[in-house]
Amino acid sequence: MTDRRLTLMAVHAHPDDEATGTGGVLAKAAAEGIRTVLVTCTDGRCGDGPGGVKPGDPGHDPDAVVEMRRGELEKSCAVLGVEHLELLGYADSGMMGWPQNAAPGSFWGTPVSEAATGLAELIRRYQPDVVVSYDENGFYGHPDHIQAHRITMAAVAETGLPAKVYWTTAPRSAMQQLRQIMLDLGADWEEPSPDDPTPEIGLPDEQITTWVDTSAFSGQKYDALAAHASQDESIFFLRMGREKFAELMSFETFVRVQDTTGAPLPEDDLFAGLR
Ligand SMILES: [Zn+2]
Repeated sequence: MTDRRLTLMAVHAHPDDEATGTGGVLAKAAAEGIRTVLVTCTDGRCGDGPGGVKPGDPGHDPDAVVEMRRGELEKSCAVLGVEHLELLGYADSGMMGWPQNAAPGSFWGTPVSEAATGLAELIRRYQPDVVVSYDENGFYGHPDHIQAHRITMAAVAETGLPAKVYWTTAPRSAMQQLRQIMLDLGADWEEPSPDDPTPEIGLPDEQITTWVDTSAFSGQKYDALAAHASQDESIFFLRMGREKFAELMSFETFVRVQDTTGAPLPEDDLFAGLR
């Protein structure tokens, strides 16, 4: 133990991912006096434009989308108490197979070693004790999320600094709960087909190592998502309203993939063994 402040670094693909996956742990860490650093890898130019205009449709101006989403991201960081926002500034991609994915300067098209070097510099500068990113499938198969996973693991290996490394995940029990809420709201919910090659989202509950009770911060998490109200993905969650959202989002869950502390599992704190 040192006098140095504990530091949490979350590495996310797009502006808005910080709210959905880690809004609770970021707000909780900030409330506990832990320094929080958010690294957002892309500028979100493939997101929805004002009024829900889709990328590629007439009137979708990627530069205007970047500016709007930058403002939304800063607002979300203010809500969550993120102390340091670092932008890697790559162009984002669409889902697998979109033509934008091959554009020059795209995150997905950048060699892992090159993008990881920039992240490794940030890890050396901030010396995070805990780093959080996604699993190999980027949680739900988005190329930018997969790339965020890859550069995080490469930068962690290169620096060897963080004591603990986590991947965000969702327990299957919560996915069922989400399904029910969305069906109750009259939304479509496609069940994964057995022929679908993409891995199912989330993990069986017993494979989750770390359950953080973030119920006290679900209001902040909702407000952070509301800061990204221009994006369909946020609207999806905002539709359920504060109360149902709080019910569904009372825990954030992770898989611990690297650890030097020996803190016993399962644990309820990303900083177990470090305080
Ligand atoms: Zn994303």
